[in-house]
Amino acid sequence: GNVADLVVAAAAERPGAAALVDAATGSTLTWAEVDAAVSGLARRLVREGVTAGDRVALRLPTSTAFAVAFFALARAGAIALPLSPQAPATELRALLQHSGARLLVTDDDTDGLGADTEGVGVLDPAAEPTDEPFPAVGGGEDIAVLLYTSGTNGPSRGAMLSHRALLANVAQVRRLRPAVTEPTDRVLIAIPLFHIYGLGPGLLLTAAAGAEAVLAPRFDARQTLALCAEHRITAVVGVPTMFTDLAALPADEVGEALSTVRLLTSGAAPLHPRTLAAIRGATGLNVFEGYGLTEAAPVVTSTLVTGYPKPGSVGRPLPGIELRLVDSDGSPEPVPLDEDDPDDMFAEEPDGTGLVAIRGANLFSGYWPDGSYGPDADGWFRTGDVGYLDTDGDLHLVDRANDLIIVNGFNVFPREVEEVIAGLPGVAEVAVAGVIDERTGEAVKAVVVPEPGAALSEQQVVDRCAERLAGYKVPTRVEFADELPHSPTGKLRRERLRE
Ligand code: ATP
Repeated sequence: GNVADLVVAAAAERPGAAALVDAATGSTLTWAEVDAAVSGLARRLVREGVTAGDRVALRLPTSTAFAVAFFALARAGAIALPLSPQAPATELRALLQHSGARLLVTDDDTDGLGADTEGVGVLDPAAEPTDEPFPAVGGGEDIAVLLYTSGTNGPSRGAMLSHRALLANVAQVRRLRPAVTEPTDRVLIAIPLFHIYGLGPGLLLTAAAGAEAVLAPRFDARQTLALCAEHRITAVVGVPTMFTDLAALPADEVGEALSTVRLLTSGAAPLHPRTLAAIRGATGLNVFEGYGLTEAAPVVTSTLVTGYPKPGSVGRPLPGIELRLVDSDGSPEPVPLDEDDPDDMFAEEPDGTGLVAIRGANLFSGYWPDGSYGPDADGWFRTGDVGYLDTDGDLHLVDRANDLIIVNGFNVFPREVEEVIAGLPGVAEVAVAGVIDERTGEAVKAVVVPEPGAALSEQQVVDRCAERLAGYKVPTRVEFADELPHSPTGKLRRERLRE
């Protein structure tokens, strides 16, 4: 199949039902209208000379225009290259060149990105709806989207996601019971569509159910309350920073605005158990946490599999996805890290700690352009995330292998240290990273953002860590800052921190 078939099916089953609501303009399209707009734009793309396999950049905010353009590119057989509207032109120029994009679909090219990048034309996504269906070109193993990961884990690389991978992940999520998305749902998507999390579990899942998506260009906690009330939202696809911001508003206001909501989901970064508790207090609802990555299109595990959230866990693999823990050579035997260290909190875990490896039809086809570093010959892909399975079989993520700090030969996972420091009253946010140290190779450094008005000292941070952590994990450097670098989905960018 072709991902744009989702629109064809929704238009056949629920033609007059509201499909896409643009929060910025207030305009609403039905599924029949979306289908007509997608066919119209696909035809225009072909008139512009777009042929199967061409890379076409998509630089639009989370909006109806983005959704229509994405499906139109899929229908025309092109490879969509979603770009952040906020990213600086210099960064985007590099991606346009690396991917060999021939066209840029945008409603705002004031910085001349298209004009001054060689060989790239600019197309306004204005709709020309047509009743004459445009038959989908290609699908299956053909690449539908090229997504450059934000590079929080090393250099930015373009993951190639086929129609098969995208549709497989949608189907895997849809096998969960009770159903994650029902046709009658009104889903708030206030996260980037140029990221797999907004695109897959947000837009594609909503389309697969023939439900309604309310698309907001940026997240703002107050505006979210207004949108939830106005559109009688039933499901929110979110990221942890969204829920942290909502938890900071008066609980009764949040509870009232979200009174029609039945499902809250969070993914892309760890959700703090404190946030989960605060949201439950305000709304009576659980936040279900999922774990995923671009290369898996994206959902791998979710607490929706068991139906109950477990603080600190990201749940179990979706039906159709196999997961195992491997050592760094890829051998299936889980190898406990830090065997020599009795203090290590993870050493006691029953199955040991290992690299998360996964297999399933949702996996990507390797990185652009040659398909390198994709799943191995047996179909397994090693994610780069380190975790363990608890006695119930639920996955806990410890950290990313690349974030590991090695102090005097001992492993330190930044997240463990961050969690200890985050528990100190007056700490708004904290990041821990390794810095070069002449004596120990690497040393642990903490950057702390204090809450407004809080008086925190370096000594307090060090003392707390010394009380709860093995000596080599205690930061030797502590710095205070006003804010930390984040990716568009709220991920801490540790590599920026190191810089
Ligand atoms: P890269 O993976 O190359 O650094 P990126 O951060 O943009 O770039 P994504 O595919 O967006 O890549 O992110 C996937 C990663 O996000 C996972 O490998 C994992 O480390 C992290 N992640 C996703 N969900 C969760 C979660 N619920 N809890 C903790 N970490 C998560």
